[in-house]
Amino acid sequence: ADLLSKLASTKRPGQHQTIIQETLHSPSLDDKVVNVSDNEDLGWMAGISGYLKEGILPEDKNEARKIRMRSAKFVIIRDELFKRGVSSPLLKCLTASQAAYVIKEIHQGICGMHSRTRSMATRILRAGYYWPSLKSVCQSHIQKCKECQQFGNAHQQPPETLHHMMSAWPFSQWGMDIIGPFPPAKGQLKFLIVAIDYFTKWIEACPLAKITTENVRKFTWKNITNCQAEAANKVILRELKKRLGSAKGQWPDELPSILWAYHCTPQSTTQETPYRLTYGADAMILVEVGETSHRRQVFNGEQNGQELAADLDLVDELRDEAQIHEEACKLRASRRYNTRVKPRSFRVGDLVWRLLGEARKDTSDGKLAPTWGGPFRVTEDLENGAYRLEELSGKPIPRTWNATHLKFYFS
Ligand SMILES: [Zn+2]
Repeated sequence: ADLLSKLASTKRPGQHQTIIQETLHSPSLDDKVVNVSDNEDLGWMAGISGYLKEGILPEDKNEARKIRMRSAKFVIIRDELFKRGVSSPLLKCLTASQAAYVIKEIHQGICGMHSRTRSMATRILRAGYYWPSLKSVCQSHIQKCKECQQFGNAHQQPPETLHHMMSAWPFSQWGMDIIGPFPPAKGQLKFLIVAIDYFTKWIEACPLAKITTENVRKFTWKNITNCQAEAANKVILRELKKRLGSAKGQWPDELPSILWAYHCTPQSTTQETPYRLTYGADAMILVEVGETSHRRQVFNGEQNGQELAADLDLVDELRDEAQIHEEACKLRASRRYNTRVKPRSFRVGDLVWRLLGEARKDTSDGKLAPTWGGPFRVTEDLENGAYRLEELSGKPIPRTWNATHLKFYFS
């Protein structure tokens, strides 16, 4: 769009050349240039206006026919061109410069509103204005509007095909993430740090008062990747919300029981409970005590010990089976995911907006905080959808950033 706008503005000096060309009577160019540039003041309206006012038609038969056809929808009132509209009876026709003023006023002016293309185009029509490229001009204006970019919604479509990770062995790879802030609880606990084992889906979670390197280090992990932890977050958050009702400050108290419930629930990916994948047998859950289950009824301490030992011997097989389930499940998931992919890749030097996560938003802005921060410059493409960024001043931004959290900056 940037290039196009430049093309349009470089056209103007070209229009003076048409005068020269006309005097030279170069027949092939003459027609085309007259149709494109017309009169500088009237722009696209010149042909129609000329025909309606003075009956002038281009020499080319097809062009003349086109102008006659189009003119049927237009009318001259007090020397000004109007289009007979559908949404309102008469729409005033605007030149490019008039249109630019109206667009700006409708989008950012006193009575303006940063609305989307469709509603903006409707407002312009309703105000009684018309030009042929109305919708596309609105679209490119919105695309370049800084506020619209900064406060725009986060995108839903993934930018790349899914790279799924298979963990070969329990507790060899952990995903980790931090959620919060929550309403402060006893001991100023506000954040929750969550780690999930990629294989068993075992979750470790710990409430924290502050996110410091020391605090995080205490919470040991081997490999940081956050996709799975994000999934684990969702489970925990959903449960917390449902259980707390209005007692929001009690969330750390609820945590152990949520984790316990989670560990005893078979996971869709592995078809097994994290507890069983870790310990080789399922834990006795409270309901089995309340309503005596078979295994509780026939409980025999000694036999139980032997069985547990056998379970532990068999756990490898169980884990193998779970892994096969999981691989199949991930394959299905990536197939589903890949159909939604909208490719979005950036090159070194591109300017981008970066999604501001909840933690990075300026808390004093509350709900009014922008969704996007930037612009930043892409300095390195690490493949797999990860990028390194720097500020416009050249100061590098720590960490790498996934394309999911980036979008193009238009200016
Ligand atoms: Zn805007």
